[in-house]
Amino acid sequence: MRLVDTHCHLDLYPDYAAVIAAVEQKEIYTIAVTNTPSVFRPCVRLTQNTRFIRTAVGLHPELAMQRFQELPLLIELLPQTRYVGEVGLDFVTRDESNRARQKQVFRKILDECASVGNKILTIHSRRAANEVVEMIGNSYPGTIILHWYSGPITVLRKAVSYGYYFSVNPAMITSAKGRAVISEIPKDQLLTETDGPFVQIDGRSCRPYDVERVIEYLATLWSTSRRNVCDTIYLNFRHLLTIR
Ligand code: MN
Repeated sequence: MRLVDTHCHLDLYPDYAAVIAAVEQKEIYTIAVTNTPSVFRPCVRLTQNTRFIRTAVGLHPELAMQRFQELPLLIELLPQTRYVGEVGLDFVTRDESNRARQKQVFRKILDECASVGNKILTIHSRRAANEVVEMIGNSYPGTIILHWYSGPITVLRKAVSYGYYFSVNPAMITSAKGRAVISEIPKDQLLTETDGPFVQIDGRSCRPYDVERVIEYLATLWSTSRRNVCDTIYLNFRHLLTIR
């Protein structure tokens, strides 16, 4: 069965080489997101001889203040990859200057990706779902994946109608809120992720093969086989790669 992990921080595992080897051995299609532009090139080097891993260039919203000076580097690196993330907004902070900086960074990244074209973005939206969806809009010229969506269902429905994808991880299936979100996502807009090593299961960091937990959950939810779920997710992933 083909597995897909569209949001994993491979560079942040202490034993990243073993994780990368396991991804290759299990043939898991993996988007390796990065949190700052300066780690993009080292991360590309780590994964350069792999078949199943693609590295994304990102600037995490929680680092937007601190790493603002790396924004020009992100723009410079954009032609080197089709994948962008982790980017977005995180409004856990109540500091208005921080929120303003995050919006400035995210706006710039969205605009640059739109002008280069053909990008796939994996996006963080904690406590900022409405702002994120408003900023991206209904006719964004790129592919949007909302990662670990946890906002209001009304906003989710709007994002669904705008054609965004949603990536679901093993932490989401263990909470009532996460399960409510999952039940709203159309089958053809759903992808799997781990957000490893941040997501913990059974007292350890999630690894890409743990998307199987999500597959198992969806098989029950959709009353179908795990194989059918895997096929659906893989087809969604293939489709996303062919959108122009
Ligand atoms: Mn993440």
